[in-house]
Amino acid sequence: MQLYNTLSAKERAALIEEAGKDRLTLSFYKYAKIQNPREFRDQIFIVWDQLEVLGRIYVAYEGINAQLSLPADNFEAFKEHLDSIDFLNGVRLNIAIEQDNMSFLKLKIKVRPKIVADGLNDDTFDVTNKGVHVDAQKFNELIDDENTVLVDMRNHYESEIGHFKNAVTPDVDTFRESLDIIEEDLKEHKEDKNLVMYCTGGIRCEKASAYFKHKGFKRVYQLEGGIIEYARQVSAQGLENKYIGKNFVFDERRSEKISDDIIAHCHQCGAPCDIHTNCANDACHLLFIQCDACKEAMDNCCSETCKEIHALPYEEQKALRKGQGNSNDIFKKGRADHLPYKKDLRNIFEVLKNKSQA
Ligand SMILES: [Zn+2]
Ligand SMILES: [Zn+2]
Repeated sequence: MQLYNTLSAKERAALIEEAGKDRLTLSFYKYAKIQNPREFRDQIFIVWDQLEVLGRIYVAYEGINAQLSLPADNFEAFKEHLDSIDFLNGVRLNIAIEQDNMSFLKLKIKVRPKIVADGLNDDTFDVTNKGVHVDAQKFNELIDDENTVLVDMRNHYESEIGHFKNAVTPDVDTFRESLDIIEEDLKEHKEDKNLVMYCTGGIRCEKASAYFKHKGFKRVYQLEGGIIEYARQVSAQGLENKYIGKNFVFDERRSEKISDDIIAHCHQCGAPCDIHTNCANDACHLLFIQCDACKEAMDNCCSETCKEIHALPYEEQKALRKGQGNSNDIFKKGRADHLPYKKDLRNIFEVLKNKSQA
């Protein structure tokens, strides 16, 4: 039985094109005890592969986190399969706001120690003791409350292109880092402030809300289904949209437009722009924001050095890379000293100060 991808991304893209069928991009997650992640992984691979599912899915003892696309025609069959699995019966599916048939080009289902790399030791607190889940309407009410501190639980390169109005957007590279910063900055307000948080699809807030309750915060709320579900409810119910800019997503689309505002700038020239790109130099691949003019002038690279290397014959580039690890691991994602217009994000103190003065 074939349990792994056999096609390259290029071959897959050609097949999708040829099939001419509309695909649906969606995501979901569920914390649940999975006894045998390896076996579970193989079971779902067999069924989903037949349903032409493509995507990135993590399975762990603690649950499943899935981001995927599939032919719209197969949606009912897919839903039926999910419902046939006890802990996934009725699971909320976050349907993408902006659809793109090429959002995923491979089916990768991986067994991992965790479904989100959270850097937390689970034994220290009870993950099921979560914050209060709120829908878009309640969320809008809460963030208008003067006793609310609204915190973006995502990383700097995500909130840079879009976030809720008046949200605190910690300037962090990892989820773990932001937990510590938020706790430290809000230690005087564990009981008197509403700690309201949100993330892309809700999964990070599941852990974060339990963590903050464990740390003594009394009024912890989280946006159910994250920004994706918020945008859906806002448009379905005609609510006020308090999100500005784009929602960063982890597939080929890179983002979805939630409002027409462009809140970020090209990291090279400062022009209004909110399009992320990866530096074309294979030894770099830095994720950064680049406008069309800079893209052309810099040959899709983040620096003159990268541009020079990228222009070399492939064999020479390979020789240069030899013995060097990839310099831009997760901790350098979207950061580099040579990008003059990389935005400094606001810290919590600043936001609280502005609020008390207002
Ligand atoms: Zn530019
Ligand atoms: Zn570069």
